[in-house]
Amino acid sequence: MAINLTRRNFLKTASLAAASVPLSKVVAKAETGVVKTPLIPPGSFKDTKTAVGGICEMCFWRCQLVGKVRDGRLVKLEGNPKSIDNGTAICARGNAGIKLLYDPDRLKYPLKNVGKRGAPKWKRISWEEALNECASKLKGIVDKYGPHGLAMFPHGASAKYPMHFFEKTVGTPNVSEASFFQCRGIRDTAYVATIGTAPGENVDMPNAKVIMLLGGHFGENVHVSHLKRYLKGLENGAKLIVVDPRFSASAGKADIWVKIKPGTDTAFLLAIMNYLIQNDKYDKKFVEEHGEGFETMAEGISEWTLEKAAAICDVPASQIKEVADLLAANAPNVSIHPGRHVSWYGNDFQRERSLACLTGVLGAYGVKGGFVKPKGPKGFGKVSWPHGEHEGENLKEIAGKYPFAPPGTPTELIRDAALSGDPYPIKGCVIWGQNPIQTIPNQQRTIRMLKQMDFVMCVDVMPTDITMFADILLPECSYLERYDYIKKGTQWNFADKHQQYVSARMPLVDPGFERKDGVWITNEIARRMGYGDKIPVQSQEEMVDKILAGAGLSIAKLKAEDGIHIQPGKDPYGISEDFTVNFANEDLEDEGFPAIPTYIPVEEPPAGYMRLLYGRAPVHTFNRTQNNVWLHAAMPENPVWVNDKVAKRLGLRDGDRVSFVNQDGVKSRTTTTVKVTPGIREDAVYMYHGFGSMNPELTVGYNQGVDDQSLITKLAVDPETGCSGMRNNFVRLVKAS
Ligand code: SF4
Repeated sequence: MAINLTRRNFLKTASLAAASVPLSKVVAKAETGVVKTPLIPPGSFKDTKTAVGGICEMCFWRCQLVGKVRDGRLVKLEGNPKSIDNGTAICARGNAGIKLLYDPDRLKYPLKNVGKRGAPKWKRISWEEALNECASKLKGIVDKYGPHGLAMFPHGASAKYPMHFFEKTVGTPNVSEASFFQCRGIRDTAYVATIGTAPGENVDMPNAKVIMLLGGHFGENVHVSHLKRYLKGLENGAKLIVVDPRFSASAGKADIWVKIKPGTDTAFLLAIMNYLIQNDKYDKKFVEEHGEGFETMAEGISEWTLEKAAAICDVPASQIKEVADLLAANAPNVSIHPGRHVSWYGNDFQRERSLACLTGVLGAYGVKGGFVKPKGPKGFGKVSWPHGEHEGENLKEIAGKYPFAPPGTPTELIRDAALSGDPYPIKGCVIWGQNPIQTIPNQQRTIRMLKQMDFVMCVDVMPTDITMFADILLPECSYLERYDYIKKGTQWNFADKHQQYVSARMPLVDPGFERKDGVWITNEIARRMGYGDKIPVQSQEEMVDKILAGAGLSIAKLKAEDGIHIQPGKDPYGISEDFTVNFANEDLEDEGFPAIPTYIPVEEPPAGYMRLLYGRAPVHTFNRTQNNVWLHAAMPENPVWVNDKVAKRLGLRDGDRVSFVNQDGVKSRTTTTVKVTPGIREDAVYMYHGFGSMNPELTVGYNQGVDDQSLITKLAVDPETGCSGMRNNFVRLVKAS
């Protein structure tokens, strides 16, 4: 049966949308949160108590933690030994959370900017004064311009509660999460358009015979249980195909490394599918039972010969055939990874559609080693701000663009409207845990947007670059000092004994200085703005308890179970009879987009320039960890990978320092070192994202390495979703004197 992917249904569905530290003994039963522990760790960790219920947020993966606490001070973080997800392992960043907690540069008190935006002078003020000013300024903007006069840029678990207040109750439609519009939004919407559900990272790698990664660079990209799945798959003998212009950590382990030309991945995938179809190497039974529009796609992609794709992708036709044959020989037990950060070239919806369709061509849905949706626990309660009565269209509707956008508003539409005042002015900005200076392309436009605001409020843990532009800056508790997030799921290896887990983030230590949690801050502002009667919960504990209550759990019960409740799970394998792969999708066609996956060429580098590629570092989470003294010691800056032949032509040697100039003449503020390697194509350079912070209050990370985002001045907007493709920028290197 075909999925009825009307626009309304689509939007509804879209919204659903390593360092190991072993513990030798189990944690004691909790009494009141911080418990006496039977663990007697050696050396400096003796005489500690173990606090349970921690959930890491040094990255979005959110591993389950315990903390060693002595005299109210956290001295060590470890994986919770009861965890069936990350287990006792946490990564280097997870370990270094303690240096975030006690970072002397952390925000401690509410601050008022008595200088200029971008060149702040901070004055410490009381919470009363700060809240009064935030509420009166925000209310004044809503009264004058309507709720459309506000924009919000949230990020992280604690930003959900305030996001829903501003979006639903106050009524601003101008909310943009970087996690959607600069990261995974395209992936989720493309899979929804193809199989009716967002994919997560749910490929059954431990049980796969072949794993294929497009741009995935596991090992540099570290998320503990995900990495465990990948490594288990390799240990079990899975063949690895890595498609990447760079010899990444994953390419170093690959059986086949496809050194593809950037931006051409969809051509590569179309040729594989066409080859499999033309040579009867696809899963006919699966396609007959679960395919919709297969014939249309087969006919539409029939032009994609191996030779045609080879010329475009700049790889041998024989290698594309080798990949296709390896997949076919091992189908359906193949993991075609959907990726995570996929906003690359502005043609990314088509690439993600192609990945979802290739999985269908191989019959790899719901089978061991394939795409598998784990069946996690259900029945949780909801805490929700009430919807106000708001009229008017949002920016997407007014622009008549991006019908397949993920939840929220494309960042670029908000910035355009704020800068032009068209279709309406946006004069107030709430930034909560996000750093749009280093997440949104074209930094100078973001700065201009902020400077034209009547009021900018920031809530953060650290003085990130964006906080320099705040009028009022509020210090938030870190993830180690607050309740907020429900982490739930199943055992990390889907084939193991079926179990489900539920945990909730609990503080491991009390907040220091005058830091407050997001529920408290939001409620205090809401009250002062006149929404006191709409407040859904009075505290973060009440919020978490209400959510847990729906599943028959509570904070007290979780504490009594060492922070994690485990219950029997369900077999995740198999698909329903009506599971459908929309190889062709008429709803896309109705909106003016190709019904079948389609290759859209990208811009070539101008003469003398190379494409700027970027990615994740193993010991940093973008700019959020630049000031962490342990992680900085492990990786203080982001060297630029340059092809050895190119380096020779440019007279560059390994370790030379360089600055950058991009295609628009924008120069990097800082320099970094050159890493000369044959492991990258001649037409591209590569660096880790998130370095070169501009805020001198980050005394460790300030000006360390180069901020790649400052060089990303051109964005390629994905036409279906409005997400920001950031890899159509080109640089030349200038040797530093
Ligand atoms: S992968 Fe590392 S940083 Fe991310 S949540 Fe787990 S321990 Fe924390």
